[in-house]
Amino acid sequence: MVLSVVVAAAVAVKAPQPLHETKALGLAGERMDVCIRNQMSRKDCDYLASPFRWKDEKASWGVLEAGIWQNEFWGKYMHAAVPLADYCHDEGWKRRIGESVAAVMATQLPDGYIGNYREKVRCTECDVWGAKYVMLGLLHWYDSTGDKASLEAAKRLCGWVMSKYGPGRRSLAAEGPFNGLMNCSVLEPVVWLWRRTGDRKYLDFAGWIVEDLDKNPDGPEIFRFAAQKTPLAKCKPEKSGTKSYEKMSCCQGILDYYEETGDRRLLDTVVAIASQVAAEEIDISGGGTQYERFCGFAKMQTEDRAVASELCVVVTWMRLCGKLLSLTDDPRWADEIEKSFYNVYLAAMSRDGSWFNSYGTLGGMRTRYFVHQCRMKANCCDSNGARGFLAFFEPAVMSSGNSIWVNQYICGTTSVKSPCVTVDQFNDYPRDLVSSITLSMDSRTSFALNVRIPGWSAKTTVKTSWGEVIVREGGGYVRFEREWSSGDQVKLFFDGDVKRHVIGDRMAYTRGPLLLARDIRFGDGDLSEAFAEADADKFTVTLPPDESMYMAVTGMLSKDSIPPRPVGFCDFASAGNTRDAKSFFASWIPIQR
Ligand SMILES: [Zn+2]
Repeated sequence: MVLSVVVAAAVAVKAPQPLHETKALGLAGERMDVCIRNQMSRKDCDYLASPFRWKDEKASWGVLEAGIWQNEFWGKYMHAAVPLADYCHDEGWKRRIGESVAAVMATQLPDGYIGNYREKVRCTECDVWGAKYVMLGLLHWYDSTGDKASLEAAKRLCGWVMSKYGPGRRSLAAEGPFNGLMNCSVLEPVVWLWRRTGDRKYLDFAGWIVEDLDKNPDGPEIFRFAAQKTPLAKCKPEKSGTKSYEKMSCCQGILDYYEETGDRRLLDTVVAIASQVAAEEIDISGGGTQYERFCGFAKMQTEDRAVASELCVVVTWMRLCGKLLSLTDDPRWADEIEKSFYNVYLAAMSRDGSWFNSYGTLGGMRTRYFVHQCRMKANCCDSNGARGFLAFFEPAVMSSGNSIWVNQYICGTTSVKSPCVTVDQFNDYPRDLVSSITLSMDSRTSFALNVRIPGWSAKTTVKTSWGEVIVREGGGYVRFEREWSSGDQVKLFFDGDVKRHVIGDRMAYTRGPLLLARDIRFGDGDLSEAFAEADADKFTVTLPPDESMYMAVTGMLSKDSIPPRPVGFCDFASAGNTRDAKSFFASWIPIQR
């Protein structure tokens, strides 16, 4: 591993821990392991890199004038593949990734271009978007290996973008699909290049992109809309300024630029937009949006909606929340990551981990959406999917100066370098809402440990090995500032009650971070059956009917004047996971009134 960052950030950043510093077990670790074993390590990286060779020989599809978005698949794959290969020390896989990097670099043209678009249609459609992902892919490789050639290739590709766009040249914000949002998301790797090279021209170019996003009246004007609190669904929908994946990608880049400049308006704007996403769009499973557009989904989630919760949107949302968590003191961003990860995200991955689905649903049958996209046996969500594990695990434990933050109750160990402490978490979370954190270090060390109390836990008891007992109502961090000895332990007992949520004439239940769902595998009646909104509902954690379910809960639900009867629920990610008619499921249950 090389130290890739040559420029110190302008603001205090809580550093997420690189994935290879964690050994993940438990539910989340096991799901990541099957994804590595049955999907990621088996992908043909050279095939994903092949569109960059096609621009001449296959003339960008022959029938189409412009190429399309196959140019994103390789870079997205690289984001997860490089850290996952490092995580599991798979040298053969790492070598194949390296060969694909060389294959991509071999397609670079003298002007720096790497892409799949014929010369006369360059800079149209998704060309700059693809360049973004290629740069990110090259920089992930550079960060892991220190291979200067990949850094140089990324610099030259950025040079190609800068030769077309910038002051006195073309605008990124006024061009391209989705009101310029797709183009402007190139901001993220531009800031990454500044950090890795210290070359001021990248920071200046990043500043120009932010200005273009902000002020260009033909662009998405995301700062103006955020300041006016315009609902996300109403931000230039006629120009597709509502495209959520692309808008959140721009926000990610704005936060990177904020990190370098400290301009508080940038952070405030993204916090405002992300708060709107959480309030207006995110549903009870941590998903949301329809056709990847902001649409006020939170309010319409009880209706039957297909083509919702696209996985690219979910992963981008989790990444953005992770960035916000590193730049603010607000643990609600960890609440959002937790909700999305354990529900809509894990639900999107097949049981054997070999593929990710593209769209989610809150009920019905989990059908598989597109497998092939852009005439390749690949698609955007499958390429993006494994990045969700990074978005969950890396911010799970953070450090800065003399402080450590535990943001997620993973089962496993994380080695923090500064302060030099191993954080060992032992639990069966989130099935069992108890966790212990044991710290080990070479010698007695003074530092602050901040443990997150999730917003869903109405009452949490924290007990320490040195005799403290703290009872906390609601979410936040509990902070311990002391001199630690190896073996010191903090134990957390979270609120295990099942909670009822009501929207209109429907209700849904959650326990801890898990959304619960009915599933016909319980064989206990019609999923559309209405029950009373009765406070006497009693829930008990039970054994699932078979091993395909992670967790089961039996609720005693009331109806008419009949005595309450048992109704089976499982965790949302298990619901419908046979992906056929054997496991129809329902999250929102009709209320009998
Ligand atoms: Zn997608």
